Amino acid sequence: MTATPAWLAAELQRLSDDNLVRPRREMASLGPGHGRVDGVDIVDFSSNDYLGLARHPRLQAAAQALPSGAGASPLVSGRSPQYARLESELAAFEHTESALLFPSGFAANLGSVSALVGPGDVVFSDHDNHASLIDGCRLSRARIRVYKRQHLDTLHRQLTDAADAPRRLIVTDSLFSMDGVLAPLPELAQLADAHDAMLLVDEAHATGVLGRVGRGACEALDVEDKTTIRIGTLSKSLGTAGGFAVGSRTLLDYLWHRARPQVFSTALPPATCAAALEALKILQEEPIRREHLSRISDRLRQGVRGLGLQDASTHGPIVTVMLGDPTSTLEASQQLLERGHFVPAIRPPTVKPGTSRLRISLSAAHTESDIDNLLTALAPLSSSARCMTSSSQ
Ligand code: PMP
Repeated sequence: MTATPAWLAAELQRLSDDNLVRPRREMASLGPGHGRVDGVDIVDFSSNDYLGLARHPRLQAAAQALPSGAGASPLVSGRSPQYARLESELAAFEHTESALLFPSGFAANLGSVSALVGPGDVVFSDHDNHASLIDGCRLSRARIRVYKRQHLDTLHRQLTDAADAPRRLIVTDSLFSMDGVLAPLPELAQLADAHDAMLLVDEAHATGVLGRVGRGACEALDVEDKTTIRIGTLSKSLGTAGGFAVGSRTLLDYLWHRARPQVFSTALPPATCAAALEALKILQEEPIRREHLSRISDRLRQGVRGLGLQDASTHGPIVTVMLGDPTSTLEASQQLLERGHFVPAIRPPTVKPGTSRLRISLSAAHTESDIDNLLTALAPLSSSARCMTSSSQ
């Protein structure tokens, strides 16, 4: 037994009153793009397994019979041959001198940001950045300047004001995962250059999805050479788990010694690294996965716009339907679930109050008829979302 402080129950009651309780669902995969939620078979629109690789037999075969644990941090003895090979293959894929693995994408952001700036420095962070970038900024103890990508003149001013700081770092998601919107990367690269700032881009949702060969939004927008460091995760289009940073050898040698989640956490297991290596191969051998994903994403996006459910200009495999309040978003998600479509309700604190939404995440495993069936199920929402659009203007 343990002792439970009384305030915890009060906090949980508050979440329940605000319709913000998150169920601890059990979700079984029934194959790429399909699953069973609490006993109900569904088409899964909740996963970030964008290329449908998480259950690929080649990944499973690659991991088979390899150790499931690394036993120590990479600096001690956890850097297995599979780990070392994955780092060199990632660097080759990303066209960078070097790559460094982390236990997760979250740890990669946390460790990289907090190692690159410190007290006295200034870090500039988009107001919609992922929690791991926000926490990395806080952990660094650098001064934090939040900007909105829609108002880059503010960022310009913030950078000018920070001219005396020893180091400046701009951090941004490349494809914002709760909106499906791209960061203004060419403009950010230009500002970084003009103000002698470093630029960190988190490609978590764009690796394997955007760009001619799937390196992400920086490839698509031709700014790779202008970034200081790019972060990726193995947990989304690469169908496994773990995070990575790519950049120059000097930069990554520095992070090898200074990025604490990498230094003090046990290395990714050999089995995971071997599976990720196989995923990286498939990503490059089968561009058809990316092309199909792009086609069905356009089909869904057009359909959702046709229903009057979205105005924003979005990219990639994430399509959102903004409903505003948590209660109607939960109800909509529940109705879709009853019709066999699992589309999660995204509510605060993941997004700001008043912007609760359905987040549809596509996979190369979905078919065109999966998209058409989903659109039919979304049609009844048309009127509530229209109300939301007009009342929020
Ligand atoms: N960055 C972004 C933009 C993400 O969305 C996520 C995961 N949701 C991460 C980083 C963290 O990646 P991981 O799941 O590998 O920790």
